[in-house]
Amino acid sequence: MPYELLIGDCFSAAHNLRQYKGKCEHLHGHNWRVDLRLAGEKVGDDGMLLDFVEAKRLLAEVIEDLDHAYLNEIPPFDTINPSSENLARVIAERVAERLPAGVRLASVTTWESDRCAATYRPDATAK
Ligand SMILES: [Zn+2]
Repeated sequence: MPYELLIGDCFSAAHNLRQYKGKCEHLHGHNWRVDLRLAGEKVGDDGMLLDFVEAKRLLAEVIEDLDHAYLNEIPPFDTINPSSENLARVIAERVAERLPAGVRLASVTTWESDRCAATYRPDATAK
């Protein structure tokens, strides 16, 4: 798809990884940065794929539930590990539900530090 928008946001949350041997099995926190990429074939008469104001609002809505939470206590992370990979997928699915026609979710990247990030791309799922 020729057009892609990139929207960034961040949230702070605590987690600990289950079935993990190492520092991350203990309760700790991150300031996650989230990069949301939206894609589309064409822009509207206004020259936009999606107004950035609207795109930022969609992402902020989804992130609000995670901000300052203990992720292991809130669904679906009460049953699946709150890893950066799973966070990226859950954020992607929740944003995708809110997108207007003609706008696709290309990817979500969750940065758990300046040096480590996970990306989920729904279209890259093996068929
Ligand atoms: Zn961690």
